[in-house]
Amino acid sequence: MQRSDSDALVIFGATGDLCFKKIFPALYNLVRRGHLSIPVIGVARAGWNVEKLADHVRDSVHTAVKKTDEAVLSKLTALLKYVDGDYTKPATYESLKKALGDARRPLNYLAIPPSVFPPVIGCLERAMPVKDTRVVVEKPFGRDLPSAQKLNATLLASFPESNIFRIDHYLGKEPVQNLLYFRFANSFLEPVWNRNFVNSVQITMAEKFGVAGRGKFYEEVGAIRDVVQNHLLEVVSLLAMEPPLSATGEALRDEKVKVLKAIRPLSPADVVRGQFAGYRQEDGVAKDSHVETFAALRLRIDSWRWSGVPFYVRAGKSLPVTATEVVVEMRRPPARVFGDASPEQPNYLRFRLSPDTAIALGAHAKKPGPAMQGRDVELFVDQRDPDEAEAYERLIGAALIGDTTLFARQDEVEAAWAVVDPVLSVDSVPFEYTPGTWGPKESDAVIKGDCSWHNPGADAHSWTRSCGPINLSKFAP
Ligand code: NDP
Repeated sequence: MQRSDSDALVIFGATGDLCFKKIFPALYNLVRRGHLSIPVIGVARAGWNVEKLADHVRDSVHTAVKKTDEAVLSKLTALLKYVDGDYTKPATYESLKKALGDARRPLNYLAIPPSVFPPVIGCLERAMPVKDTRVVVEKPFGRDLPSAQKLNATLLASFPESNIFRIDHYLGKEPVQNLLYFRFANSFLEPVWNRNFVNSVQITMAEKFGVAGRGKFYEEVGAIRDVVQNHLLEVVSLLAMEPPLSATGEALRDEKVKVLKAIRPLSPADVVRGQFAGYRQEDGVAKDSHVETFAALRLRIDSWRWSGVPFYVRAGKSLPVTATEVVVEMRRPPARVFGDASPEQPNYLRFRLSPDTAIALGAHAKKPGPAMQGRDVELFVDQRDPDEAEAYERLIGAALIGDTTLFARQDEVEAAWAVVDPVLSVDSVPFEYTPGTWGPKESDAVIKGDCSWHNPGADAHSWTRSCGPINLSKFAP
């Protein structure tokens, strides 16, 4: 084991939903790949013991993993310990120290509501050697710029930035990693990846489901806080950043911060908010709620590379599909050599970020036959890997070895809040839209000129434009 590796994993909130759905399955996969063999200490206030925790972990893994390898699961449960207690009481941390035994470099995962972060952080600082103690904090990281700054101040008063791991699970997703790789591993992109050749960039994160019984939670959040400020601005930063000196650590984070700071703070005129019909009848939702379940926005990046190129971002619930895609649309050719017969689509690059991983290049090719007529085609690469590491597996694995690359830094989180902050307090009535449609028609106004919204399809090959269906032939595979 290297000096910088954590020698125990402590999970606060071991009885919670996030642990059950994401963290325990991720630990199972880390054990399966031989990346986890240190003690795993669950902490909660539920009056459980280690046997009960082990049962819960088994249940979680059986639910998440189709063909569980029982030998791997036994290895995981053998690593478990359990500490019960009130997170604000020193006695709980005394029990935790006993459970840690000889471990001196614990990674503490705070899978607890943000309101509980401050007392836990303070108690950890007093109970553990600060230099070697790491802390993972979950999204949401604040609910606006001032609250994020306050939370950062709390964390940094106890631990150095290098020991703090702010999770945005999007950064751990394989297709998001691929965006970064594809951009900077290909020499053909750099000459065209700028305002001279790119007409616009679009990112759509669509969810077919509504608030899925979490109306009370959603009322406090809305689409902009829930996914735009974090996941989608992360994607924007990877698409728009300058080449980093290296793809790890501070060099990468420095470039992301630079481009986030170059994004002009949003004004209400840049944003159309929507709410699906029926949202106000959900449990926990106010009958006159103004919370948006859909947002479409136009970002401007005031940099040499992107001046004048709009970045359109759209996110919503109860849309026709669950899918996330990026489309980088190029400028049209300066002349129509083939007259009216040339295809209508501009060239584009399409990145499918979920539910599959794919890259597609939209181009024109001649339609076979005597006439010089063209058709739109897509060169399509399916990047799916059946044994792909889930985001939480990748992120916990990285935090255990102290690699901060995939985590948001203080200035990055605050720069992202600064972009959306001016529109968070605008209390306008959102436009209503019918569930199963692409949001309110008013969102078309966000996109001006000759381009229109790119609507991802249920499968990675199919997509449409808001102005009408596109019929694409593809070059296999
Ligand atoms: P839960 O509500 O399921 O609670 C998590 C844990 O925190 C439980 O062990 C719970 O204990 C404990 N807890 C709750 N309130 C208190 C309190 N006031 N004092 C002490 N302990 C408390 O939350 P989730 O697991 O859903 O979320 C955990 C964190 O992860 C949150 O910050 C959330 O925003 C974030 N997150 C969650 C996601 C999810 O899908 N669930 C997705 C992304 C982020 P008890 O069981 O005893 O109540």
